[in-house]
Amino acid sequence: MKSLLVNRQDLKHNIKIIKEIAEKNGRNDNHKPLQIIAVVKGNGYGLGLVQYSNFLIDNGINFLAVSTVEEALKLREAGITTKILMLSSTAVEKEVDLLVKNNVILSLGSKDAIKVAEKVAKKENKQIEAHLKIDTGFGRYGFCYDLKEEMVQSLKEINNVKITGTFSHLSLAFYEKDKFSKQQFERFIDCIEYLKQNDIETGILHICNSSAFLKYKEMRLNAVRVGSAFLGRLSIPNIYGLKKIGYLKSNVAEIKTLEKGYNIGYSNAYTTKSQTKIAIIPCGYADGFNVSVGRDMFRIRDKIRYIVRDIKDYFKKQDLYVEINGKKCKILGRLGMYHVSADITEIDVNINDEAIFNVSPMYVDSSIRREFR
Ligand SMILES: *Cc1c(COP(=O)(O)O)cnc(C)c1O
Repeated sequence: MKSLLVNRQDLKHNIKIIKEIAEKNGRNDNHKPLQIIAVVKGNGYGLGLVQYSNFLIDNGINFLAVSTVEEALKLREAGITTKILMLSSTAVEKEVDLLVKNNVILSLGSKDAIKVAEKVAKKENKQIEAHLKIDTGFGRYGFCYDLKEEMVQSLKEINNVKITGTFSHLSLAFYEKDKFSKQQFERFIDCIEYLKQNDIETGILHICNSSAFLKYKEMRLNAVRVGSAFLGRLSIPNIYGLKKIGYLKSNVAEIKTLEKGYNIGYSNAYTTKSQTKIAIIPCGYADGFNVSVGRDMFRIRDKIRYIVRDIKDYFKKQDLYVEINGKKCKILGRLGMYHVSADITEIDVNINDEAIFNVSPMYVDSSIRREFR
């Protein structure tokens, strides 16, 4: 049976590194250390929402963030009591109602969202917490940065909602050029100053995701929202010693020897060149193996590099590997939906030996067990 393996020591190591970087930042103008908000959206980046969140909490993380109402509720249902920030602003009353009942910190990114939050808070007869979200050039949730007056006006009308944070999200933090990120940062700071001049409480300020946190010390403000860095799966070069987290483990189901000239897999794309011993292992693209996100292209240089790689891969038929007993074994033939055949001619393999696949945990079906070991 398959499981997604999470190496506890490696994950602990990454948490430690991230905390150390945050601590080195020193204390900010509130004399408080830099707050780490761990983003656990997307089923905890694939590591398992509840299991991963509990692991983070056990390792000293005390503030989580999610992207959907469902994720927030699932954490509360699992008995997790830490602070949870809902990153997406919503003006849907039913959703706000559920978030408020479950003590989740709202994000407010529009007049409507503020109105609904105030209404629900009143109805529940509660003082609720929210972070103000400003869109500094992402084009998604949040007040557009040039609607400063609208923000102030809406915020002057609230009594039952306390703004305990203000944040924005960067769209290009992983890009090596920093012009746009700096511009977003400046827009954010402009808004903050305007709000303060108008006696609006802004709470803790945060704009950094993993890449920005690691790259731009000057943008760290009071808090940082860290997701992918915990998994050591960054879109920027990993010069921080972060370890890659999450491998798919399967087991050798069958072993056999094929004669020379034998076909392997769909489309007869591979024929054995000599007698070949193979291991048949349940794992394929439906498990997230060899699935990757669409590539964004920014520069001609990147574009050419990708095209060259695609052509090379086409002729090489892109070699894929699986690790069995610590040895890299080549996958023969076309990758199947649920199964692969791997070349084990040169190595000693037994049925049920573990086979480790390098996958992006995010693409591994949530029904597959997450094993922290
Ligand atoms: C996903 C997300 C993050 C974390 O991004 P990483 O690059 O994975 O660190 C931070 N903030 C918001 C609003 C997000 O949606």
